[in-house]
Amino acid sequence: MQTKLTGTYNNIPEAQELKSILQACVHCGFCNAVCPTYQIQGDELDGPRGRIYLLKKMLEGEYVSRQTQQHLDRCLSCLACETICPSGVKYGRLKDISQPILEQKVSRPVLQKLVRYLINQMLPYQNRFLWLMTLARLVKPVLPASLQQKIPDKQAIGNWPDPVHNRKMIILTGCVQPTLAPEIDLATAKVLDKCSISLLKIDSASCCGALSYHLSDHQRALDFARINIDTCWPHIEQGIEAIVSTASGCGVMFKDYGRILRNDPNYAEKAAKFSELVRDISEIIVDENLSIFSKSNRPEIAFQAPCTLQHGLKITGTVETILERVGYRLVDVADQHLCCGSAGVYSILQPQFSSQLLENKLEALQRHSPEIIATANIGCLMHLQAKSQISVVHWVLLLI
Ligand code: SF4
Ligand code: SF4
Repeated sequence: MQTKLTGTYNNIPEAQELKSILQACVHCGFCNAVCPTYQIQGDELDGPRGRIYLLKKMLEGEYVSRQTQQHLDRCLSCLACETICPSGVKYGRLKDISQPILEQKVSRPVLQKLVRYLINQMLPYQNRFLWLMTLARLVKPVLPASLQQKIPDKQAIGNWPDPVHNRKMIILTGCVQPTLAPEIDLATAKVLDKCSISLLKIDSASCCGALSYHLSDHQRALDFARINIDTCWPHIEQGIEAIVSTASGCGVMFKDYGRILRNDPNYAEKAAKFSELVRDISEIIVDENLSIFSKSNRPEIAFQAPCTLQHGLKITGTVETILERVGYRLVDVADQHLCCGSAGVYSILQPQFSSQLLENKLEALQRHSPEIIATANIGCLMHLQAKSQISVVHWVLLLI
């Protein structure tokens, strides 16, 4: 696509990247076929090709309105469009770079600003989120059923295995997962322990940065990245084998630290090393001796592959392979490439689209009546669990 950035944007550091992304798009429209919001709306401007066109016009200096912002807000950043694009258009990067520009050009209504501000102030901080959830659990009995479903009860969990093995890996506790589902990291530690790997829990008490990044608060996201790198650095220097991620959404962000901090002279090298060490738990376990987890008469399960796992980390089929090799039978799930509607805080900001996508996803997951639904990301897990008739768990729990 012919692109001529307006003077202002021609001078930003990402100008060349923007131009090459926009020029790569040949307008074929293949991406529309896999876009969840295009499928719902049937509107060109609610699909990737239309959004690329809107952003191009903005960067070329044309007028942008609240409507432009709404079409971009409806995007889940699921990246299904990137996976299918035959020209390799980096839609996610285009959106990441352009969204803050759009935020500056189009002011949001006060209520939207407030909601986004509160999300950004509360959710990425472990202690603030714990406080919020404690309060929510107290008032849960008097809340409407739709809200009650979103507040999980507190889990009693067991003891973390002692770090007795030579092979050592670390895991960052992160923001919401320790409060919502602490059993996931504990199960991971137990599974790795069985593989003769000690998993050390590192309490950074802060987010990976993905949430703030997608709310266009890049500065805060970079700060989170620096905190996490500093917290892990002594262990990295001691030679830990990997930084384990049990939430594919965080994994994508962790693997991007090297890129987002590449221009920071104090952190560029450390960030690159950090990202190089990050591995999704499935990438580690698939290489271990899986026969120790094998059992007969396992139930039938449905696996929901989060967008961040399949389109972000580009890990496809690995979790399924692990689960089948330890004895689970996996049912077919239609339209695996489509988002469940969780997408970070999308379910809060775009509740109608999110609930339509959730309904579609649960219908696909439950169609062949599995006994369990497994997933690989805390956001998807909470989202699916709120409406599912069937128990939803992180897949790693199915190994212990
Ligand atoms: S599939 Fe790729 S090249 Fe085709 S319209 Fe979409 S982004 Fe552009
Ligand atoms: S990221 Fe997902 S929702 Fe956004 S345009 Fe691409 S396919 Fe559509």
